[in-house]
Amino acid sequence: MTDKTSDYKIATLGSHSALQILKGARDEGFKTMIIALKGRTQPYESFKVADEIIELESFKDLPGLEQRLIDENVILVPHGSFFSAYTDLEALNQSDALYFGNKKILPWEQSRTKQREWLKKAGLTLPKIYDKPEDIDGPCIIKFYGAGGGKGYFLAKTAEEFYEKIKPHKDKRYIIQQYIVGAPLYVHYFYSPLTGELEVMSMDKRYETNVDSIGRISAKDQLDLNIESSYNIMGNLPVVVRESMLPQIFSMGEEVVKVSKKLEPGGLTGPFCLETIVTPELEFYVFEISARIVAGTNPYINGSPYTDLRYKEPMSTGRRVAREIKLALESDEIEKVLINGN
Ligand code: ATP
Repeated sequence: MTDKTSDYKIATLGSHSALQILKGARDEGFKTMIIALKGRTQPYESFKVADEIIELESFKDLPGLEQRLIDENVILVPHGSFFSAYTDLEALNQSDALYFGNKKILPWEQSRTKQREWLKKAGLTLPKIYDKPEDIDGPCIIKFYGAGGGKGYFLAKTAEEFYEKIKPHKDKRYIIQQYIVGAPLYVHYFYSPLTGELEVMSMDKRYETNVDSIGRISAKDQLDLNIESSYNIMGNLPVVVRESMLPQIFSMGEEVVKVSKKLEPGGLTGPFCLETIVTPELEFYVFEISARIVAGTNPYINGSPYTDLRYKEPMSTGRRVAREIKLALESDEIEKVLINGN
């Protein structure tokens, strides 16, 4: 078998899970490249994961880099910050640079309506969506559009409360979603189109300010200080679930992959995450899917308890991506893991 990894470079944008992606790529024998904004390159220099560092004034300059990426056989691995860097899906679709994953599935992730259709078809339980504030008949969470990281989300249980709390958010687009009382659980999967197998890589819960710290002060102080909860994410914490919950976790992921193949040719490939709330009855409510690597995998750069069961070496999700590219190159099936949108 010839070593084709040396013909390719793996690159990503400097933020989110880039350290993990580049470390994983290097562990699999690829050269690595980071594309970062000026003034934000220090982590990639200090942690020594990048063979090349490209600095941009703005991610708007990405198209100017395109020819170089093509000439140097650079495979871009997308992550959460990728989509705010590319102004829209159209811009990403127009790019001819090699791209890991299936671009065709992205519109299904980006539109909340399409996401719900996908998850419902997979037979998952979803929180209810209220069409208008007057329909509110129980606790709900108001979420704004765009990857704001949960900033400013608020809770309401009546239309009056909603109208009061929405005041500072004039002109923002929002959805009103049933608030599920339970424990948040984010499950990180990897689906390989080469083996047809779904892997559970790891799980996390988010560390959000200020909801995760509000309990440090008494309820009386919370009221006296007039504190509103906010869900701005600042980090991620590892979670391992009761083993008896695993069969359902696998079957949820498998259904999502199965349905994705009916939605678009090639379907969902590589890493993805189901974002859930688990109720006291241990029922899963899925409120979102991320069709790419999530930052919740970052605590597992050295592998997770689950990948430790399956692999003989530390296997992060970032490394699993690089492994998939390597296996696809070796078996001449690269078109199964790099699927363009056009
Ligand atoms: P992403 O970056 O994944 O798009 P986001 O910024 O849209 O995330 P969410 O993940 O949707 O934010 O939600 C932020 C917080 O609200 C999380 O703590 C999540 O667990 C919680 N949450 C979201 N939806 C619900 C719900 N329906 N019921 C209860 N809690 C919820």
